[in-house]
Amino acid sequence: MSEQTHMLILGRQGSGKGTQSARIAAALGITHISTGDLFRKEVARKTQLGMRVGGYLERGALVPDELVVDVVMNQTADLGGWILDGFPRTMAQGQALFDALGDDAVDLAIELDVPTHQVISRLSMRRVCDGCGAISSAPSSEEDVIRLCNICGGNVVRRQDDTVEAIQSRLSSYDSLTGPLIIWLDSLGLLATIDGKGTADEVFQKSLGVIADRLLLSVEAMDVPTSS
Ligand code: AMP
Repeated sequence: MSEQTHMLILGRQGSGKGTQSARIAAALGITHISTGDLFRKEVARKTQLGMRVGGYLERGALVPDELVVDVVMNQTADLGGWILDGFPRTMAQGQALFDALGDDAVDLAIELDVPTHQVISRLSMRRVCDGCGAISSAPSSEEDVIRLCNICGGNVVRRQDDTVEAIQSRLSSYDSLTGPLIIWLDSLGLLATIDGKGTADEVFQKSLGVIADRLLLSVEAMDVPTSS
């Protein structure tokens, strides 16, 4: 049953993980859990956790493994299916996930493959609504005029960690820390790499095809909006 599916989504920052995981979650009837979104909410609310992680987020550095693992375990407890977006990001986090939930904790890990030069250009144009989190693209990388979100009316802004320095730090930790995790997931037979270039709709269609194929589900049975 697709509602019990447990998935991971990996990919460089700016590869479209957030957009694709939200769509996949809706299609399969599972919960989308983004660790980045969770942390940003905690920072905005100035909670104790937010105070602890704020500096890491601003610098584009990874939050310590123990802290992230705790947060994810709390979030996934009592849920049916889920897609984890942005977790695990290190071997230690991956091992902690399997230690806590067992060897068959994950049905499929999707890696969205987009080359570094392309994600840098996407990230410099990326804008996000501070109300509902909707992601959009600015007409140019320099555009910093505040626009209003056409979904919720919130402010559409640049993410605090979409600065040149933080982008570089995040991409370099992706290669050095997440790279080995991806090789490991592949060795477990869990990885499906999808070409993440192209439009969000194109990548979504490819993702659905891979999910159907690997999890023996029928695309027709998924809840896919007809406009996609
Ligand atoms: P994201 O929105 O996925 O790019 O995450 C934004 C920021 O949240 C990252 O740059 C990290 O500071 C933090 N973060 C999110 N997920 C993790 C994770 N699995 N491990 C460590 N830090 C994380």
